[in-house]
Formats: sequence, structure tokens, C-alpha cells
Amino acid sequence: MTSLFLLPGQPAAAQAKDPANLTELRKEAERSAKELEDATKALEQRRATIAATEKQLKEKLDALQAAERNLAVSRRPVAEMAQLLYEEPFGQGVVPFMTGEANIKTLRAMADSGQMVAVRQQAVQQTSQLYQQTEKLAAEAQELRAGNLLAEAQMSAEIDTLRKRSDKVVKSLTAALVKLGIKIDKVGRGALGCNPLQVTLANDYPNGLIPSKLLCPLQQRGHLLRADAAIAFVSLNEAYRKQFGKQICVTDAYRSLAEQQSVYYRRPGFAAVPGRSNHGLGLAVDLCGGVQNFRSVQFNWLEKNGKRYGWIHPDWAYSSPFEPWHWEYDPKADSIL
Ligand SMILES: [Zn+2]
Repeated sequence: MTSLFLLPGQPAAAQAKDPANLTELRKEAERSAKELEDATKALEQRRATIAATEKQLKEKLDALQAAERNLAVSRRPVAEMAQLLYEEPFGQGVVPFMTGEANIKTLRAMADSGQMVAVRQQAVQQTSQLYQQTEKLAAEAQELRAGNLLAEAQMSAEIDTLRKRSDKVVKSLTAALVKLGIKIDKVGRGALGCNPLQVTLANDYPNGLIPSKLLCPLQQRGHLLRADAAIAFVSLNEAYRKQFGKQICVTDAYRSLAEQQSVYYRRPGFAAVPGRSNHGLGLAVDLCGGVQNFRSVQFNWLEKNGKRYGWIHPDWAYSSPFEPWHWEYDPKADSIL
């Protein structure tokens, strides 16, 4: 398990340089995602406001119900009073809301003195006020509900537009990456939860200094690669598993600068100069499980099938230095797009 020694004149592997329009696309994709996120947040806030106004609405409707009950009650005395006065203008009968001798007398006095008219008018006025109140509440409730429905619909339409735009930008970005030879494999991406757009972000960092959050994990625990290399490796691993009934054995993948230095000083002349290894770009693996033995069944299978997934055994590794275990990802060799 040594690292790659870069021969003079050897192309600096498959590190596709980020052209200006790709950087622009990436920025636009990030902007779109941000806008979508902001709009979604605004919608959530709007929904919270709507929930609060729905609560107000419920209170109004409750008030409306109470007002209607009052209305029914206030109407009763008027009707009952009229009825009673009609049947027994000065009688001894039971008056439900005025009992006792004194009240009957009062009632007679009222009827006699014309005060009855005032009481009646007061009751009618009260009824009319309550009626106006219920009308007002009903109108307010209706307006509130209509406003909420409209706001919700407008917000959803806006989010929909932003989502469509974001999808479109991501599609353009993906197409640009594919054009550069960066492989986008939906199956591999799903299996790893790995975002291929991270490739362009990882490319901003020097060899051996890529933050691990911009790299993608392999199914082989503890090993990381650049997103596109990882995604392709997952597919290769799947084909290998079908053939040999087990996963590819990995001893080393991405190597940080510190790790490269450690290997370099332990085995001077063998490992690549720190900062120049493809392991530091997350584009190389050292393999075991038989592959490390030149012309083993596993080595031969990988040599024949690896390039379909962009994974190759570089020419130098056949002889100088002889490293049968060392394999590299070359997106341009990747034929499964
Ligand atoms: Zn290596």
C-alpha cells in the first residue's frame, strides 16, 4: 500500500478544471437553492400566520354563535310579551319573565301608561344590534378565510416556480459536468447519498486538503473519494460483487496531506511526493482481496471491466513503480453516462 509516484510528463490525472461557465452555473444553482429555501421558509411563516388567523376566525365564529343565541333569546320576550298582552291584556295569568303580584301590577301599569311601548322598542333595538353584530362577524370570518386561501395559493405558486427554476439550473449544471466527463450516476448517488455537484467544490481545494464533508464515503467503511469517483466506484463494486460474491477490498482511498507525508517519510522514494498523489485528490484507491497480485483473477477482471466505470490501472503502475494494487479514476474513461 504505497501511493502513486508521478512520473515526469504524466498528465495530472483527471482533475477536470472548472471552466468559467461551470462556476457561474454552480453559483446560480446555489442561488436558486437559497431562493427556494427562503421562499419555503416564508411559506412556513405565512402558514403560521394563517393558523393564527384561523384561530381568530374560530373565535369569531364562536362569538357569532353566541350572538345568534342571544338574538333568539332577545326575540323571545318581544314575541311572548305581544302574545301575552294579546291573550290577557290585564289578566292574572303567569308571565314567565315577570312573576309575582308586584310585577303583574307593573305590567298593567306599563301597558296602561304606554311604557310597554318603550320596553318593546328597547328589545327590538337590542335585537337589531345583535343582528348587525352577527352580520359583521360573518362577513369578517368570510373575508379572513378567503384572504388566507388566496395567500396560500399565491405562495404555493411562487414556490412551484422557484422549484422549477432550481431544477432547471441543476439540470444545466449536471449537463455541464457530464460534458466535462464528470459522471453522474443516479443509482450510485442514491446508494451513497452523495451529491455529484460536490465535485466542483472539492476541486477548489489543494491536493490532500479537501474537507471530508466534500468527499463521499465508499461502502467500504472509513474510505472516502471525490464524489464522481465514489459514485463510479459504487457501480464498479456492484459489478465486482456480482462476479466474486464479495465487495472490492480497499486498503486506502483519499489520503490527506498529513497521511501522504507519513507514508512518504516511512517509505521514501516509494510514495508520491506529498501534495502530488492522486490519493490526495480522492481519485485513487489501493486494493486488496487478490487485486494486489498481478495477473490474479481479480486483477484481470478489474483490468478488463474497470474502465467501463472509469477505473483504470495507470500505465506507470505496471512497471515504475510496480503497484498492481493502485487504481485510479479517470472520468474520461468512464463510458457509462
Ligand atoms: Zn496507491
